[in-house]
Amino acid sequence: MTQHKMQDPVSQYPVMDIPEQRQDEPGLDSKLLPKADHGEETYVGSGRLEGRKALITGADSGIGRAVAIAYAREGADVAITYLPSEQEDADEVMKVLDAIGRKVVAIPGDLSDEAFCKQLIKQASDELGGLDILVNNAGKQLYVDDILELETAQLEATFRVNIFAMFWLIKAALPTMPKGASIINTTSIQAYQPSEGLLDYAATKAAIANFTHGLAKQLAPKGIRVNGVAPGPIWTPLQPSYGQPMEKLVQFGQATPLGRAGQPAELAPAYVFLASQESSYTTGEIIGVTGGQHLP
Ligand code: NAD
Ligand code: MG
Repeated sequence: MTQHKMQDPVSQYPVMDIPEQRQDEPGLDSKLLPKADHGEETYVGSGRLEGRKALITGADSGIGRAVAIAYAREGADVAITYLPSEQEDADEVMKVLDAIGRKVVAIPGDLSDEAFCKQLIKQASDELGGLDILVNNAGKQLYVDDILELETAQLEATFRVNIFAMFWLIKAALPTMPKGASIINTTSIQAYQPSEGLLDYAATKAAIANFTHGLAKQLAPKGIRVNGVAPGPIWTPLQPSYGQPMEKLVQFGQATPLGRAGQPAELAPAYVFLASQESSYTTGEIIGVTGGQHLP
């Protein structure tokens, strides 16, 4: 099977039997039950990103891992970044990437630190020999029922990782990006349909969508496109690491029109399209991959 095989999207992946589980954040893919699909066995490339140099944040697990695998199979050299505590997951994806045969670089660090963001861009572009694609995908999501219990420390950390880091990374990357380069930001269905317990997270995702629209206008004359992807409920370690209350976690994704959670592998093609020259007239857009919950 490949990502191209025609089939019923309802039954393409099963409605998962999700056991109760909790991890500290950031969650590890190695502890996720059941396992997620990142396209390891299915994603087939066809030269759509031949010779490109890409940096993907949060690429040890989840959506970022699926994007890294797809980009390398499409012919890109890839740098991945993640938190030091996720080294085990990073080693796992590096094994898959190494087998593809493109250049791959792993750079751990904390994106809530502006100095690291600058150093990351320098190291990635030095080691890859340039930077054509920046995928801002790392994110922090912690569920809190009551705004009265939402601590300032969490509020600030969520904004630093989810939105401040995008400003820092893009500021550092732009001077090295050639015309034709592409920036892709991961927002969320939460930008448009916020859950009551994700006020800080959803607000950052709305900020990311707005930033994507505005930055696209600023960079269009420079020949750099900026777009976003808005996932719906996707099965990744973000969710069992306090991303959802337990009663929502065990039924994760079942309220979508397709009736099931999405898998990270199902996100990769949207990121490939936005990175490739096929999307040359698309900038300032957000592609929804939501199982039918749709963007406004
Ligand atoms: P994930 O946990 O696999 O990936 C998130 C990654 O963010 C982590 O792997 C980690 O490396 C990174 N990260 C978190 N804090 C960081 C920090 N301080 N410094 C550096 N990296 C840090 O989960 P995912 O669901 O694949 O998340 C990827 C993106 O997709 C996130 O932006 C998330 O908000 C977004 N998203 C996910 C869903 C979903 O249902 N899973 C839905 C909508 C949007
Ligand atoms: Mg991770």
